[in-house]
Amino acid sequence: MAKINKLLQGFDSFRKQYAESNVNLMAKLAQAGHNPEIMMIACSDARVDPALLFQCDPGELFILRNVANLVPPYECDHRHHGTSAALEFGICYLKVKHLVILAHSQCGGIQAHLTETKLVQNDFLGDWLSLLHDSEKSHHPDVCAKNALLFSYQNCLTFPWIQTALNQGVLKIHLWFFDILQASLKSYDFDLGWVDPTFE
Ligand SMILES: [Zn+2]
Repeated sequence: MAKINKLLQGFDSFRKQYAESNVNLMAKLAQAGHNPEIMMIACSDARVDPALLFQCDPGELFILRNVANLVPPYECDHRHHGTSAALEFGICYLKVKHLVILAHSQCGGIQAHLTETKLVQNDFLGDWLSLLHDSEKSHHPDVCAKNALLFSYQNCLTFPWIQTALNQGVLKIHLWFFDILQASLKSYDFDLGWVDPTFE
């Protein structure tokens, strides 16, 4: 079966589950509007789909995906900042209570950063990944991905309205790492390091 047909079959199943069952979630969401409590920044990697990993229904996650799940520093220079715009929308308009930055193992973006000289096509990737120059160096992609999470966290703090929300106690930032091979999840604790995530 052609893969594009698989998408249309998938959409059929989605409609049956979420729109044609007794509980018409999509109609409810259309009435209730867009009001997620959690924003997640994840990599574009096809193996790391937040809604699937965390078994979320429509309406539960406000998701931003970019190459290597990076948060750039606050640069209000009137250029085209897609990640910062999504953060502004999530924090200031949706007023999400949790911001999760989800990194993962075997990240192609991180690997491209570590082997930048080998990029044959490089109009944008190198500049985007050059954000990582300021994060702690490691030649192991997974260690680099974890260090990059801390770097993104520090960059979050440069956004004045993120800092305000944190100070007011209305926002929490979580740093998570998903290992594809192990299918395991770790959470970064600023006192303990990488630990198993716990329920709050
Ligand atoms: Zn990745």
